[in-house]
Amino acid sequence: MASLMQTTTRNGKRSSTYHAFLEGEIEQRPNLTVITCAHATRVILDGEGSAQAARGVEYRTENGETATAMARKEVMLSAGAVGSPQLLLLSGIGPKDELEATGVPCRLNLPEVGKHLKDHLQVGLFFSAPGVGVSVSEVAISMGPDALRAPAGPLPADPADDESLPPELQGLKAEAERRLVEWFTTGRGLASSSMYDAVAFFSTGLGDEYSHDAQLGFFACGYNPDLWERCLRVDTHEFFDDPDVALSPTAESMIVLANPVLPHSEGEVRLASADPTVAPDIQMNYYSDPHDMKVMLAIIRRALDVVAHWPSHRQIGPLLVPPALAAKHGYVEGEAPSDALLEDIARHYSLTVYHLCSTCRIGSVVDHELRVKGVAGLRVADASVMPNIVSGNTNAASIMIGERAAELIAGSNGVRLAEFVGSPG
Ligand SMILES: Cc1cc2nc3c(=O)[nH]c(=O)nc-3n(C[C@H](O)[C@H](O)[C@H](O)COP(=O)(O)OP(=O)(O)OC[C@H]3O[C@@H](n4cnc5c(N)ncnc54)[C@H](O)[C@@H]3O)c2cc1C
Repeated sequence: MASLMQTTTRNGKRSSTYHAFLEGEIEQRPNLTVITCAHATRVILDGEGSAQAARGVEYRTENGETATAMARKEVMLSAGAVGSPQLLLLSGIGPKDELEATGVPCRLNLPEVGKHLKDHLQVGLFFSAPGVGVSVSEVAISMGPDALRAPAGPLPADPADDESLPPELQGLKAEAERRLVEWFTTGRGLASSSMYDAVAFFSTGLGDEYSHDAQLGFFACGYNPDLWERCLRVDTHEFFDDPDVALSPTAESMIVLANPVLPHSEGEVRLASADPTVAPDIQMNYYSDPHDMKVMLAIIRRALDVVAHWPSHRQIGPLLVPPALAAKHGYVEGEAPSDALLEDIARHYSLTVYHLCSTCRIGSVVDHELRVKGVAGLRVADASVMPNIVSGNTNAASIMIGERAAELIAGSNGVRLAEFVGSPG
């Protein structure tokens, strides 16, 4: 299946669960209190053994004071695939031996809290793509005149100096203003794009039969050194023969992301300390199951095949191979890369997709209604409950988990949610 990428975008702007569900609601609802800059430190439990129940949450305020929020009915944890298991562990819910090793008294031995951590990995394959890719200069023009100001751009840093612009820069500024107005008024244009413009899902044939195991992402832009260094954490002087040429503002390039979507490797989240302000220990164990590298190689091969058969008269590529790896494997540009070279590229340049999940998974830690097993009045609703990682991006799936949790809570309190929000369609 191949399509344009679907994004959480409304009227040309990236949305979020805050914009979609919360914005404006807090002011209108007397029954909703949002406490910002609060760090939850543990779930307050009472009772013993199998009669334990969650009564509230302890948290630290912005000023470092300890406060509590007590629940009349239930406590919901939505702190994500790292935060939710950490909170359960800090509350004494988790593997007994691990809790005792960090000095947290065990209230409920639930061995799989924090286990089965999954994530997606991706490898960015860089191709020169004249006439197909969009240059960084084009992207900047579409973001309006401010994106073109010095020191990075050709317009003066101070808009007051625009009066003395030469004609070509006046034209550039006018075009940038036109595109910005187009985006504001129609929600269309380059500024509305995430640049992750197209996606393909398919099966490598190596995975499980019930689902595809591969995703290819097509970025229409090769981006700039800042993005490579800071977001992708790649040393551009190591990755590119000449980063000034490959990532010049006028270069037209593409990035194809090779992304196995049903990895077998599992990691874990463990407490590093009983102190809630200390980050937990996160072990990702990427590629610990050899299956995942086999799938990655198959997807990279497919990416090279798609690029080699690009549906136009334009030529894309060849694949940019970092010079040190090219030398190590005796690779000559334009030749078919060996499996050993592609594996080396994957091992050096795989990057998280930030899709962490499954650390409080349904069946192990919570039941099918998201209730923590063995504790009354406590649910988890976030990506941590996914029984396995979804074979695509996780944001929409996480939002669906939140919506389903709302239905479950409403249902168990005799409320028909449809009376408030209507029925679909
Ligand atoms: C940089 C980045 C880019 C991404 N891009 C995409 C994308 O393009 N498409 C896509 O589908 N998915 C994307 N994802 C993944 C997607 O955002 C996640 O899958 C999704 O947000 C998971 O939702 P969640 O509710 O489980 O956790 P989160 O959204 O992480 O929410 C958990 C919240 O709990 C808070 N929290 C944690 N611990 C505590 C505590 N002790 N006290 C108080 N608050 C706490 C956190 O600050 C956070 O706000 C991206 C993720 C990242 C990080």
